[in-house]
Amino acid sequence: LRQGLDKTRRGLINQLKAIVGQGPLNQDAVMEIEALLLQADVGVEATDYIINTLQQKLREEVLPPEQAIAYLKQILRELLEQPYQNSYNPIFVPEKDTLNIWLITGVNGAGKTTTIGKIAHLAQKSGYKCLIAAADTFRAAAVEQVKVWGERSGIDVIANPGKNADPAAVVFDGISAAQARGTELLLIDTAGRLQNKKNLMDELSKIRRIVDKKSPNAKVESLLVLDATLGQNGLRQAEVFSQAAKLSGVVLTKLDGTAKGGVALAVVKELGLPIRFIGAGEGIEDLRPFSSYEFIEALLS
Ligand code: GDP
Repeated sequence: LRQGLDKTRRGLINQLKAIVGQGPLNQDAVMEIEALLLQADVGVEATDYIINTLQQKLREEVLPPEQAIAYLKQILRELLEQPYQNSYNPIFVPEKDTLNIWLITGVNGAGKTTTIGKIAHLAQKSGYKCLIAAADTFRAAAVEQVKVWGERSGIDVIANPGKNADPAAVVFDGISAAQARGTELLLIDTAGRLQNKKNLMDELSKIRRIVDKKSPNAKVESLLVLDATLGQNGLRQAEVFSQAAKLSGVVLTKLDGTAKGGVALAVVKELGLPIRFIGAGEGIEDLRPFSSYEFIEALLS
């Protein structure tokens, strides 16, 4: 993880440490920190929160460098844990012996297919019975891509062979197969782009309705895959998916390719969604369940 976050650490974090290391934290230093956070795509809301919390603390006590870093880590960790509302579970795992359905959404190019391959691999390795439904029938190559990832881990992929197949039918078949086979984790790939935004919303809503209706007892998670290299711009995409797919979390990909790892904080503060996984590489193993502790330590240690 440290390696994956190298770019962010070298950029933002080293500067941050240099500022904090100058001596007891003062107002000038806080303003420098504010500018740095904004540069690293932490976003206005999260930055305001961090700076206000820091300033309040400074009014109460003097913070020498080591304490300042420790306190900063604490604020960042707390921010990342806000969406969990006291039920913080750092390691995101499917529930055993029950059907978990994870709906995977996101715009094309965000890393959706790769993420599905990585999650499937991780789940399989951890002893879960896994199945994938390839419901991005709009993009011809998507089904093939998902199949390739499935084959790598020996996981079956439910797909409709017909061109322009109905994604809802694929989802329906996927759930039926999962129920019949005693699958523990069904991953559903969805379209990232359709003719227009409304079609995409309609399709995602329909898929979500089928999931909720056909398997009311399943544990459903709806994850949005976001490309970290897009920084703040990526967040706007979230709105479209949020309502239609009833998002419950985010997978932040390509953290290895950006110095804007700070966007993790913006995601949590602005979308109010927990980060569930982070992707830091193109390989099948380059995915980690998100832990705020591990993330902040990897950044600031
Ligand atoms: P999709 O269109 O959303 O399904 O995106 P893909 O899964 O096809 O990924 C698009 C590109 O991003 C591919 O070249 C992937 O190898 C790459 N990619 C995905 N996740 C990561 C990641 O965590 N780090 C890096 N560096 N590249 C990634």
